[in-house]
Amino acid sequence: MKFVFFGAPGAGKGTMAAKAAETFGFPHISTGEIFRGAMRDGTPLGLKVKAIIESGGLVSDELTIGLVEERLAMPDAKAGWLLDGFPRTLGQAEALAAFCPEDHVIDLEASDEKVLDRLSGRRMCRSCGRSWHVRFMPTAKPGICDHCGGELYTRDDDREESVKVRLENYRSQTAPLQDYYRRRGTLVTVDGEADADSVWTVLKGVMERLVSARQA
Ligand code: ADP
Ligand code: ZN
Repeated sequence: MKFVFFGAPGAGKGTMAAKAAETFGFPHISTGEIFRGAMRDGTPLGLKVKAIIESGGLVSDELTIGLVEERLAMPDAKAGWLLDGFPRTLGQAEALAAFCPEDHVIDLEASDEKVLDRLSGRRMCRSCGRSWHVRFMPTAKPGICDHCGGELYTRDDDREESVKVRLENYRSQTAPLQDYYRRRGTLVTVDGEADADSVWTVLKGVMERLVSARQA
């Protein structure tokens, strides 16, 4: 099945999509992670997007759409996928609808305060890309990923100035997609305000129902 994980930066898309990928077996495709991997490896793509991403801006639709089209055409994405961080603009949503339409959009809702709290104090794993939080989701050993033992770091775009730009872009370019997906009948809203374990319990139930309704 094809799921889009939707929500503000800090709403929990990446955390929930990683859990869902483990449980349901669909590949977790995060455009942010693809870009960060390219920046880490210093590829031409990485060099191209570095300044934009660090300042909190959006990478161009042209580049992002091309990348996602290529990724979704890979063999592991045949049976389904979990897209995280795409689409973020109407152009991206229309492109996805044309080349590989989603079954459901999981909209993780969290208040502005919650989102800001989560972004400050967030730590990412350099190896597996999972996110943790110094207060809300601490690892057993500080600075080390519980999942893979990788080193944790603070994302450059989690600095206050970049967070502001990201939230503004979310409001002006991405949030309007809620209406777009409501009209398509694929929007499923899940409350993302609680701690990660509680949100996951609810989300897992929602996804199980959607998957079995499909099989029935
Ligand atoms: P978050 O959801 O916390 O903002 P992501 O890891 O999804 O973080 O994205 C990080 C950054 O990568 C974004 O701020 C943006 O610069 C870039 N990016 C990711 N996905 C897209 C996209 N679909 N379109 C344009 N830029 C993107
Ligand atoms: Zn890790």
